[in-house]
Amino acid sequence: MSRLIASFLLAGLMAATPMAYLKLGFFTSTGLVGIHWTQPVSYFVTNRDADGVTAAQLQAAMGRAFSTWASVPRVAVTHSFTGFTGAEPFAADGINVIGFRARPELDRTLGAATFEFDEVTGQILESDIFFNTTFKWSVAPAGQAERFDLESVGLHEVGHLLGMGHSALGETEIRSTGGRRVLGKRAVMFPIAYPAGNIEDRTLEADDRAGFADIYGSGAQTGTISGRVTLGNAGIFGAHVTALHTGTGDLVSTFSLTAAGDFTMAGLAPGLYVVRVEPLDDADLDSFFDEDTGVNISFKPAFFAKLVPVPRGGAGPSLHIVVNAK
Ligand SMILES: [Zn+2]
Repeated sequence: MSRLIASFLLAGLMAATPMAYLKLGFFTSTGLVGIHWTQPVSYFVTNRDADGVTAAQLQAAMGRAFSTWASVPRVAVTHSFTGFTGAEPFAADGINVIGFRARPELDRTLGAATFEFDEVTGQILESDIFFNTTFKWSVAPAGQAERFDLESVGLHEVGHLLGMGHSALGETEIRSTGGRRVLGKRAVMFPIAYPAGNIEDRTLEADDRAGFADIYGSGAQTGTISGRVTLGNAGIFGAHVTALHTGTGDLVSTFSLTAAGDFTMAGLAPGLYVVRVEPLDDADLDSFFDEDTGVNISFKPAFFAKLVPVPRGGAGPSLHIVVNAK
């Protein structure tokens, strides 16, 4: 079994990063095996209050976050709250635990998720989430100044618990005091949170829904774009590929994830898309890939020359996108 610390969510106040959805999984001889649940997701909540938020309020906020993911059209994921517990998140104890913990040494981490999965099937066996009480939290319906919205950050962490990776659909600026600040984002799964008081991440975006449908949907009502990104004849790994629906303005993205530059984007609403490729240069690479992974960012952004049709339940033409060196 493999235990992963999934992607810390950094505090918007001090740190920020960008991206589209990144499917978590591993490659075998038959292709990418995605990480996923094959059973109802049952979770416990640690019986510990935080300043301003009780354990019961944490449980209620997590219930809303699970329900938001479960309401993505045409996906079948069931979840249930089992009860309060004295068990701590991040203990490998065979149960899923969500709770508050004081982690003052993680001064840019609002919360984090881990999961343990079967290395053959990709089935998730256990996942935990903690929220860092070094920060001030709120469950106020309209948000609360100076406090992070627990449901918003919870929706991001529950996304990880359910098997979602980070998205790069966001823009940040480097702060003079260090870290990044979010200027805008189009995915709850973007690795950097909005500032305290903001509640926009209670609502999923098109990119989140596409990534989730890619894991849990049947594919019957959505479509796929796939292809390859190359510089000359050489494949590019880690190119950020975005697709804009010309009818709705929905934006979905992914990465090329092989040495040959192959990418696949599933869970797309049918329609005509504008496809663009860009380097992942407005982000901290380690929010998306292991440090030792060679992500190529030395190329210029490029559009695919034609609109790309995505049929319902099928795939559009396979795209070959050629980029130029920076
Ligand atoms: Zn995250």
